Amino acid sequence: MSRVYNFSAGPAVLPEEVLKEAANEMLDYDGSGMSIMEMSHRTKTFDKVIQDAEADLRDVMNIPDNYKVIFVQGGATTQFAAVPMNLMSKNQKAAYIETGNFSKKAFQEAKMFSDKVRVVASSKDKNYTYIPDCSNLPIDEDDDYVYICENNTIFGTKFHTLPNTKGKPLVSDQSSCFLSEPVDVTKYGVIYAGVQKNVGPAGLAIVIIREDLIKEDADLQFKTPTMLKWKTQIDAKSLYNTPNSWAIYICGKVFKWIKAQGGLEAMKKKNEAKAKILYDYLETSKLFINDVRKEDRSIMNVVFRTGNEELDAKFVAEAKNHNIVTIKGHRLVGGMRASIYNAMPVEGVQALVDFMREFEKENLK
Ligand SMILES: *Cc1c(COP(=O)(O)O)cnc(C)c1O
Repeated sequence: MSRVYNFSAGPAVLPEEVLKEAANEMLDYDGSGMSIMEMSHRTKTFDKVIQDAEADLRDVMNIPDNYKVIFVQGGATTQFAAVPMNLMSKNQKAAYIETGNFSKKAFQEAKMFSDKVRVVASSKDKNYTYIPDCSNLPIDEDDDYVYICENNTIFGTKFHTLPNTKGKPLVSDQSSCFLSEPVDVTKYGVIYAGVQKNVGPAGLAIVIIREDLIKEDADLQFKTPTMLKWKTQIDAKSLYNTPNSWAIYICGKVFKWIKAQGGLEAMKKKNEAKAKILYDYLETSKLFINDVRKEDRSIMNVVFRTGNEELDAKFVAEAKNHNIVTIKGHRLVGGMRASIYNAMPVEGVQALVDFMREFEKENLK
């Protein structure tokens, strides 16, 4: 058996220690004689799994007591609808910042609920290669929230400064930067993330919601389906129906792994060091191009291309011989993308850059 360097954007690489632990526990979790996958979610054993997962996440992210945490199904995309359905007041107004495909999709979804939803800043003019200036946005007094996608998985950009929301709650899709570095949770109204980028198996989303934003049924503006109501999930402690218990179990292990690595400060240090290796090389390369504005670079998803589609395809094909896989860029942008999440070892990034150098030498005319 041999592991590859998997640069997939998601589902993505997970820590080997976690995979081994899960493998060891597959036939008999904690003396139960069964795996977590086969176990009722109403057992004491599973209850401990989900309680510990939440406690460890709260610890890792330093989540204040006035924020609720829920584990819900449907990935990040389901939250595109849940956000307006849970947060809109009678005004039904919200301001979206468009920095790529995922924020655009979230905006379009919110538009289905209200035509008073608007894009207040966009980087579409330069194909989403930068983060727009968000220091003085046209946010209205009656806007219910301001929405961002914090790390743009497809385009390789990241908000390194949060927008000035003029006092309105900030809603952030953190799917591809979740737990990659410390965040000040108090700056947000809602943080959510699909976990398959940096934390666990696909299909689960974690939503962190400031208490005062949780609405009673009477205050909801839409006929919000029971499963999409955050309050349903909060009241039921994420066990309203059968949860994605397997994903919660793996996430719990990843939270413990992060703690053992030294927490989010340590993650950040490691992630910045990995990204630096790649960006430093890209800056000197005469073959590979990265268009992202320097101050807006993501340390999770690094995009690059040669400018020649055939050569890009050759790179992707030859990379396999070096154990480097899923390095192809998203179909919207082409080229290549190296997703270098928490669990990607520095050796993987080094192997990638070594191969890029070699490829450049052979292919630069
Ligand atoms: C992957 C991703 C999504 C979509 O996640 P799903 O779980 O597939 O719905 C949304 N937002 C961001 C930033 C992503 O990276």
